[in-house]
Amino acid sequence: MKITKIDIHPISIPYIPERVFTVSYGAIDSVMNVIVKIHTDEGIVGLGEAAPVFPFNGESQESCMAFLSRFAPKLIGMNPMALTSILELLDTVYGNLAAKTAIDFALYDIIGKATKQPIYNLLGGLRKDKVPIHMTVPIKTPKEMAQEATKRVEEGFRTIEMKLGRVGASVDADLEVERIKSVRDAVGSGVLLIADANTGWAPHTAISIIRKIEQYDVFIEQPTKGIAGLAEVKRSVSAAIVADESCSTPEDTVEILRRDAADMISVKPAKMGGLYKTSRIIAIAESAGLPYRYDGMESTRLTCTASLHMAMATAKDVAGGFSQYTRQQKDIVKKGGLILEKGVASVQDLDAPGIGVELDDSFLGTPVTFS
Ligand SMILES: [Mg+2]
Repeated sequence: MKITKIDIHPISIPYIPERVFTVSYGAIDSVMNVIVKIHTDEGIVGLGEAAPVFPFNGESQESCMAFLSRFAPKLIGMNPMALTSILELLDTVYGNLAAKTAIDFALYDIIGKATKQPIYNLLGGLRKDKVPIHMTVPIKTPKEMAQEATKRVEEGFRTIEMKLGRVGASVDADLEVERIKSVRDAVGSGVLLIADANTGWAPHTAISIIRKIEQYDVFIEQPTKGIAGLAEVKRSVSAAIVADESCSTPEDTVEILRRDAADMISVKPAKMGGLYKTSRIIAIAESAGLPYRYDGMESTRLTCTASLHMAMATAKDVAGGFSQYTRQQKDIVKKGGLILEKGVASVQDLDAPGIGVELDDSFLGTPVTFS
């Protein structure tokens, strides 16, 4: 089989106004992503998505378009089953993990369709067909966050992530403590609560805040920037520390272990360069006894579904975060894929090959095409 054509589509989908997503980096009110279609000489088309978040990883729709346009001509004529050879070619350029994810997803989609296997079967086989999902509460007043968290728990979610922190400005530490206290009091003790500051606290502020909320039984995600900062915070508190922004590669994972910088890592195929690289990171984490949790970037239901396949192929019970698409005004997936019911995700058709989704092409922008 040979790759004959690659379409690179920019997509832009606004968020539902009441679901604008305020995090430490600011308010996110749309996704500006890239959809890739890889065509083959056997008529199989693989679908992938790049989900860049500029303040998170320095990638944007423009940088993903540029990276993918640079590499697409080199991929024409290659065998799409030669996954690692193609990923090695992409890795001749550093970084750009969101853009690389789009190629990885599309290749897995092709391999799954060619072998008539759903992707979870390419990742080790089905361990569970239902995956609990967390819902994220964006930064608002303590009262508003408590109300939203309560609503999500009533909808069936048993894990709540709450956003905190502020990048590029000082935070009101007392207000951060109040937010955590309000949400914990509202949801009760039976709900797993993760407070994600997205690097938005200085190390000393993080230590001060966390010491005040340790009795509320909260996981603290990426309280501060960098692996050294995480290690400093982890040494000083007893709450569990999760690494997210600081864990995107196998090398990051090794460094986190070497420095004892986190109690858990956040695993996201969309930030880690796709399913293959993520499986390598999971292998390191499992070998070292480092727990991990699944999450996603700001993506459509295409990425949420591809990521769910990976969670379905592993035995971890911590809830995954594949609900980002629910914030968007349009769903570009017209058939198949992830369905969310009472806080639990599954796929519509367990036997559908590949990622198992069909897109509504009317939502895709004009592509740049290479053949
Ligand atoms: Mg996070």
